[in-house]
Amino acid sequence: LLDPSPLAGTTRTTCGYCGVGCSLDVHVRGGSVAAVTPVHGAPVNRGHACVKGRFAHGYTRARDRLTVPLLRRGGRDAPLEEASWEEAVGFAAGRLAAIRAARGPDAVAVISSARATNEENYLAQKYARAVLGTNSVDNCSRLCHAPSASGLTAAFGLAGGTNPFDDLDRADCFLVAGANPTEAHPVVGARIKQRVLAGAGLVVADPRRTDLADLADVHLRGRPGSNVAVFNGIAHVLLAEGLADEAFLAERASGLAELREVLRDHPPERVARLSGIAPGDLARAARRFGSAERPAILYGLGVTEHRHGTDGVRTLANLAVLTGSVGTEGGCGVLPLRGQNNVQGASDMGALPDHLPGYQPVAEPAARERCAAVWGAPVPERPGLRIPEMFDAAVAGRLGALHVIGEDIMRSDPDSGHVRAALAACELVVCQDVFLSGTAELADVVLPAASFLEKDGTFTNFERRVQRVRPAVAPPGQARSDFAILHLLAGALGADLGCPSPADALAECAAVAPLFGGLSHARLDRDGPLHWPCRGAGERGEAVLYLDRFATPDGRAALAARPYLPPGEQPDGAYPFVLVTGRRLAHYNTGSMTRRTANAELLSAETLDVHPADADRLGIADGDRVEVASRRGAIVLAARRTDEVAPGELFTAFHFPDAPANVLTSGFADTVTGCPEYKVSAVALRPAPEG
Ligand code: SF4
Repeated sequence: LLDPSPLAGTTRTTCGYCGVGCSLDVHVRGGSVAAVTPVHGAPVNRGHACVKGRFAHGYTRARDRLTVPLLRRGGRDAPLEEASWEEAVGFAAGRLAAIRAARGPDAVAVISSARATNEENYLAQKYARAVLGTNSVDNCSRLCHAPSASGLTAAFGLAGGTNPFDDLDRADCFLVAGANPTEAHPVVGARIKQRVLAGAGLVVADPRRTDLADLADVHLRGRPGSNVAVFNGIAHVLLAEGLADEAFLAERASGLAELREVLRDHPPERVARLSGIAPGDLARAARRFGSAERPAILYGLGVTEHRHGTDGVRTLANLAVLTGSVGTEGGCGVLPLRGQNNVQGASDMGALPDHLPGYQPVAEPAARERCAAVWGAPVPERPGLRIPEMFDAAVAGRLGALHVIGEDIMRSDPDSGHVRAALAACELVVCQDVFLSGTAELADVVLPAASFLEKDGTFTNFERRVQRVRPAVAPPGQARSDFAILHLLAGALGADLGCPSPADALAECAAVAPLFGGLSHARLDRDGPLHWPCRGAGERGEAVLYLDRFATPDGRAALAARPYLPPGEQPDGAYPFVLVTGRRLAHYNTGSMTRRTANAELLSAETLDVHPADADRLGIADGDRVEVASRRGAIVLAARRTDEVAPGELFTAFHFPDAPANVLTSGFADTVTGCPEYKVSAVALRPAPEG
């Protein structure tokens, strides 16, 4: 804004970073973004934005943006070379068609993007199913909140949070589990803090001493992997001390007898042995939460990214049901804090191997027929591969082509060595991205994509609010939106995806998915954001779910009787530490966007957080180079001595390519959804060898 020349215009859009979905005004000068300001009257952020949404936009004009297609003309060992769109798309389509013809449609798989718009995700799953002929399409919710979709659907009936953000302003007690919203969802984190400073109660369940943990009435610092024991322990106390809402349970819940049976094995004394949490702290937390009139539960990846992540979601949801704080006017429900901007929408749109748009099961003939009638092509019957299964299939020689849209699977997926082997085993890897990511570097065809500031469409935030995304600037060079690229590829394969514009795509999605029947760009432009379910043009959408009945088959909330089961890896003599991975305030996921902005000055390198007692024992000073090794590999990074981690535990993020944390993470995954266990890896630590 220091440039005195006038602004060329201002465009209102939705933040492309986290799942809070702040409304932003993007001010443009000379064809570039000059500044971003939060929208004052916006329902989500009310004039606030964080250091990512407000300032981390310079990457859109970074010198190393991909601006032309790249092609490996001479085979795998040849370099990527610039190509025309016609040549690159023709090459990709020709190879896809050949692999599909030789090995069948299930030899091809598509990974769609939680950063892409709803309309692009809708088109990606349609491209996979109606053009390529496979249900093997998935998105990165597999790596984060697939257990939320599965757990919340089983508990309440729908795959989303139960209440809107606005309810946080009336909550009188928060249970924040496995989440650090101050860093990962700052606008929500600030709202929780304000309420707590104004007197609301706060219970934090987290192995790390987070910002919110310092403000909490009770910090339940359980061992990583002990969530189910901890939530069962709280439930045990709620029932034992008469803090459960018996009238609500009798009228609106099922499964109480089975739950009581499992809880017999989870008294606070046993939970203490499993989690390390003192029985008194567990009881205090249960009493604080159980005596609140308007409790709210918020949780993050510290609940889902576990071998028993779905059980974690179910046993946490139990606490809302036991206290009658979901599906009622008083309670503030259960909100999953989703990471990426449109991870809710990517799944909503059907970029899932077992669900069509609107969470209609692929296995359901009526759902397949509904889509097939509109698409003019049959929908394959057999559910497709999940992302981890795609890698396994590639390594086993059962997958020939992988088409990756806007995901850097080399850096973000667990056990990078296995991902590298999978990419190497594929005959063809097609990559659409904004930068030459670690994945794009290994691809055969790289197609330059537009960033969110250059796109038209919608995102859905983690309170199920569908909001407009509008292009503020043009993509650089020859880069195109993922929407346009999918159309080009389909056309080169001899198919017409229909839906010429994003507005047409949302309209078509509304026609095939009853859950979204009332959504359209015209309505969103006229009326502002809408929550789903929104089944008809006359509906405003449901911000609070289940006030009359739960969307389960019997209309009741389903309590889950789930015993504690151990994580995939436990520390042992060879790997005595537990590594937890996560995120930091200034950066976003693999850092490909934020590292190319001034945010890099706020945090320019990754660290390994080590408790001072462990550091003393191993002779590690602040900033020393240390080697952390798991059964998969080893990385070297600088140590940061901090009691934010407990003794015996370590923490790092995956924002920097020179500290690739996912070299270390394991192949263990949620037994229900396949979500990787990023939060528990057994590792060894030592000062880095010289040289
Ligand atoms: Fe963007 Fe999330 Fe920050 Fe809001 S809180 S500005 S949505 S990154």
